[in-house]
Amino acid sequence: MKTASTPTHCPYCALQCGMNLSPSPQGGVEVQERADFPVNRGALCGKGRTAPAVLSSSVRLTSPLVRSGGTLVPATWDEALDRIVEGLGAARAAHGPDACGVFGGGGLTNEKAYTLGKFARVVLGTSQIDYNGRFCMSSAAAAGTKAFGLDRGLPFPLEDIPKTGCVILVGSNLAETMPPSLRFFNELRENGGTLIVVDPRRTKTAEQADLHLAPRPGTDLALALGLLHLVVAEGRVDEEYVKGRTVGWEDARAAAMAHWPEYVERITGVSVPQLREAVRLFCEPEAAMVLTARGPEQQSKGTDTVSAWINLCLATGRAGRPLSGYGCLTGQGNGQGGREHGQKADQLPGYRKLTDPAARAHVAEVWGVDPDSLPGPGRSAYELLDALGTDIRALLLMGSNPVVSAPRAAHVEERVKSLDFLAVCDVVLSETAALADVVLPVTQWAEESGTTTNLEGRVLLRRRAISPPEGVRSDLEVMHELAARLGVEKGFPTDPEEVFEELRRASAGGPADYSGITYRRLAEENGVFWPCPAPPRDAEGAGLDVPPDAPVRDDETAVAHPGTPRIFLDRFATEDGRARFVTVTHRAIAEEPDDEYPVLLTTGRVVAQYQSGAQTRRVDELNAAAPGPFVELHPRLAARLGASEGDPVAVVSRRGRAVAPARITTGIRPDTVFMPFHWPGEGRANTLTNPALDPTSRMPEFKACAVRLEAVEG
Ligand code: SF4
Repeated sequence: MKTASTPTHCPYCALQCGMNLSPSPQGGVEVQERADFPVNRGALCGKGRTAPAVLSSSVRLTSPLVRSGGTLVPATWDEALDRIVEGLGAARAAHGPDACGVFGGGGLTNEKAYTLGKFARVVLGTSQIDYNGRFCMSSAAAAGTKAFGLDRGLPFPLEDIPKTGCVILVGSNLAETMPPSLRFFNELRENGGTLIVVDPRRTKTAEQADLHLAPRPGTDLALALGLLHLVVAEGRVDEEYVKGRTVGWEDARAAAMAHWPEYVERITGVSVPQLREAVRLFCEPEAAMVLTARGPEQQSKGTDTVSAWINLCLATGRAGRPLSGYGCLTGQGNGQGGREHGQKADQLPGYRKLTDPAARAHVAEVWGVDPDSLPGPGRSAYELLDALGTDIRALLLMGSNPVVSAPRAAHVEERVKSLDFLAVCDVVLSETAALADVVLPVTQWAEESGTTTNLEGRVLLRRRAISPPEGVRSDLEVMHELAARLGVEKGFPTDPEEVFEELRRASAGGPADYSGITYRRLAEENGVFWPCPAPPRDAEGAGLDVPPDAPVRDDETAVAHPGTPRIFLDRFATEDGRARFVTVTHRAIAEEPDDEYPVLLTTGRVVAQYQSGAQTRRVDELNAAAPGPFVELHPRLAARLGASEGDPVAVVSRRGRAVAPARITTGIRPDTVFMPFHWPGEGRANTLTNPALDPTSRMPEFKACAVRLEAVEG
């Protein structure tokens, strides 16, 4: 182990807080403050502070496991890798390349996500690859691309938030999901700005707002349309901006005018005076922002819902201007980078489209393959999971635990069990890994180097601070070994920097251009914002750290590109440089309450656990703070049920039943219950959730489904 302190980043959420890792007197590493990183300035939540506990956890996997006689037993690496080759090979031989599926994760580094996409398409030749980031932000990505021609979580750094006039935060509970980010919103209010929070629950974040709007789950599309209606009715449209920088306003305006405030009040439960107050707070300052998160995005109409919020920004001239804009707060650690470099069903590295012949030709050249050999787009995440055991017979899974995190989880669990072969790479025996035929123990964040891209589009370098335990290998080593065994000897390096060098070339000229970013720059700077194209090199290629195939410049003036913290200020990334209004109208969620299932369920996170809990449920301090699931419900619902605080309550949907203790609060609407989704077993919230998909983003409707409550004896 190194002796000096190593600056790096947290392994969990998209804030990617900076931290220093130092040798601990007890062995391993301990976390210390890293004040120089501007996103968190040393602050960390409990998950980040305790992250090293997973490195040395007693349940850490340190040996490959293979299924023998129905049980997972330790095996050598050769035995385990051979079994995977056999399992994937058998599926491919019997049913063709698409019988092999690959499922990745939004926590994988850029290098791993890139290599996984390449492995699927070049080694397995399968189109069937997607990742759990599809569940995280794909509706915002789709809406952002429609409107602006490009999707980057935030088009500005977080440090702009305190300087704007008003922020509408839609469906985000930052106080629990990214506590250090609250600083920016506190500073906003100290500077005289206002915070509006849109959330069906009075969350810890909503408690800090100047105005809290609590719409019925799944109605924030109507809410945004109602606000836009008032913007028009009150003469607050920025006509000059709309004329000069957008197209499509007339149709979007007409759609909004059909959403009268009283009609919107009936749909959402948000009163007309509250709607008017929100419009006043949003429109009076010179600059304002709208930020969305999973609330509006995880809906069967998530793309339209985000489009409605973007329309509000465009009509008021709050996009592509200093201190104004629409942004998506991505969730997973590499939720942004993970969607840019090819593990998504329809994408190639650099945020290129798999259906674009020029993109295929460029990436195929970098990969040294025939463009025609690259498969086309495959299924989205839930559709891929739903197809397991049907035409997908074998699955390689990396960095995900869908048996807990996917919607309709009991069904997904059955589909996983019906596979002919499942291989999982993980650090612990997650609920999904426990169903595998082969489990490979892999390195964690502090044991390997790699880059991630945080919610601001800031590319960061995580550095190796500690040696991995004996018996553990990196995901890159796994793909290298598997590729070689499957007949592809070259093109799968195990050194992350070598992979990044190739990723730079593959992304060059694409929407997410990383070609001007190097490990050296990332080590010297506090991250670099994409797009960051490589400068042309001089005739000798000397003096500038650029890929060898960068064009040769014809003068001596080129300097390294500084990166792009703020995008869209001059023009949007569309052909004509103008943003697009997308005309949307209100529609109901896929499963409205009825007599049999009269209550709405919404799901989310708590501060001490992360996603499916595969890592955080292994940390004592976090388990003490958040030991298990609960059902949050209003006193009126509890009284109807005869339930007191802590009583077990059954929540039943058309997909299954979950039981968890009641947590009674007036901070939730009486027609809605909330469950966090971090746990397996009888309290698994995703047993209940609805996999109804958004038609554009293919994102499931985690945020609203119909349920009934039942008292549980004893
Ligand atoms: Fe880690 Fe996110 Fe917590 Fe920061 S807010 S310490 S990145 S989990």
